[in-house]
Amino acid sequence: MLLARELGKIYAAIDQSVALALSHAEHKPVCQKGCEHCCRQPIPLSQPEAFALFEYVRFALAPEIKAKLLQNYLSQQDAQAPGAPCPLLLNGSCQAYQLRPIACRRFMVGRMACGEHEDPAATRPEDLIIPARSALNDCLLGLSGIYEKHYRLFGMAQAPEFRSPVERIAWIKTNTAIIQAYNWQSFFEVRRKD
Ligand code: SF4
Repeated sequence: MLLARELGKIYAAIDQSVALALSHAEHKPVCQKGCEHCCRQPIPLSQPEAFALFEYVRFALAPEIKAKLLQNYLSQQDAQAPGAPCPLLLNGSCQAYQLRPIACRRFMVGRMACGEHEDPAATRPEDLIIPARSALNDCLLGLSGIYEKHYRLFGMAQAPEFRSPVERIAWIKTNTAIIQAYNWQSFFEVRRKD
């Protein structure tokens, strides 16, 4: 769980920025367990975050949960179709909540719950509770450091080189896919003892 430990510092900083945003928010968030509409949006996921989730799924998730996730995953015709659920969603709850990615940690809606297929960023952006952009940028810089340190893990021949923080952040964004686009099947199939 190497990457999970390194990402832990980044996630803690994001959670801190979320707590600060909540302390100033006009509305309290209505997000709660069982409300899964945001988990059916395209969720940006960097490779370090994906690897940490793969490790978690492979080594820490209970076999019976993995079996159910695999069943759901295989039952979908197109895992990337609009409205397709995140592969880690089960019965309205995230099966990797402690390790959920930055995008999930920062997403909060106030006033009223999202409707089915609603993207509140488009329909009512004023209800979004948005943590400071500077905190997000700091975390993206941290992510770029993980790419530099573990570049081989991400299939790179050499560590990426950056000339400025702006370049780092832009690079992270272009090297991020959506969570639904990763191939989860082999990780759900692996048994705990493997
Ligand atoms: S990682 Fe968890 S919180 Fe994020 S979209 Fe998937 S199920 Fe939802």
